[in-house]
Amino acid sequence: MTATTTTTGPEPSASPDLSKPVGDPPLLEVRNLTVTYGGTVPAVRGVDLRVEAGQKLGIAGESGCGKSTLALALLRLLPATAKLTGEILLDGEDVLTMKWGRLRAVRWAGASIVFQGAMHSLNAVHRVGDQIAEPILLHNAKATPAAARKRAGELLEQVGLPAARAQAYPHELSGGQRQRVMIAMALACDPRLIIADEPTTALDVMIQAQILRLIEQLVADQDVGLIMISHDLAVLADTCDRLSVMYAGRVVEEGPARQVYAEARHPYGRALSAAFPRIGDLASRRAPRGLPGDPPDPAALPGGCTFHPRCPVALDSCATEDQELREAGGERRAACVLVDAPAADDSRSTS
Ligand code: ADP
Ligand code: MG
Repeated sequence: MTATTTTTGPEPSASPDLSKPVGDPPLLEVRNLTVTYGGTVPAVRGVDLRVEAGQKLGIAGESGCGKSTLALALLRLLPATAKLTGEILLDGEDVLTMKWGRLRAVRWAGASIVFQGAMHSLNAVHRVGDQIAEPILLHNAKATPAAARKRAGELLEQVGLPAARAQAYPHELSGGQRQRVMIAMALACDPRLIIADEPTTALDVMIQAQILRLIEQLVADQDVGLIMISHDLAVLADTCDRLSVMYAGRVVEEGPARQVYAEARHPYGRALSAAFPRIGDLASRRAPRGLPGDPPDPAALPGGCTFHPRCPVALDSCATEDQELREAGGERRAACVLVDAPAADDSRSTS
């Protein structure tokens, strides 16, 4: 397979458009983001991410790896005990230095989040249509309650529910329907980026597949960017273009989603992909394997490579030497000393 990089930037010979900087910034660029809770719990440590419009980035990792902290940090939705450093550039504008008024405008309209537990995130005593209408009214001073309710009905239809379900209370809906309502809410203000934090984890497999297809369809139709967070690498490989695998607050592997799933370069990526086989794999060679142990407590990280205590191929040096992300062939990067070793190179193409 030939890897060609296509750039869609301006032609070098084209006369420059002085109204904006050369080369549009990506939709989202996160640079060296750290989040520390209470001064002692480094839950996110130096994460870099990039999402273009229309692109779907998956973030994988076991529970406790810092995925939700990262998602919430992107819109500064963390508690005051969390200290953030780095840059979160949304269309080139840093979320971390935005004034509150601007931040409120960016939440929902610039980027919006779909959370895992729809039952807990929706308000039990309000009709779902009113809950979808709320951000529309909040963000558009000209919107009338009637217009916002009408839009709520349209949004429900867009996520596959009859507009009349706007009258329902959350408890009158199934888990899958509630998650559709959450997605309708996330779409309410036409965001450019949707962050979905384990959007299907609480749902059964059939409903999970429907919701994933719905999210994919919406992203394709509206040319928004998507960050999809899951512990299930197989789900992300099916849904996303690119994948970042997190361990102990860091990205330890990144690259094209299917490649990362099929032949991860970091031992943690390999363990995750073996733990979550695709349906087709179950009937064939790949048996699911668990990874012994748990991710480390961020308040007491092991020295060296934080994965070394669980790593099946760790060298002695891994107990003392930390690893940064390094080139791992093609568009891939991995934070493992063995990426450079011939033994870890067997999956790389010979071209
Ligand atoms: P994930 O979403 O990958 O499961 P989280 O971002 O929820 O991971 O958590 C990462 C780490 O941060 C965990 O060790 C968790 O205990 C810790 N953590 C999460 N929220 C808080 C908080 N509000 N205060 C202190 N520690 C927290
Ligand atoms: Mg989480």
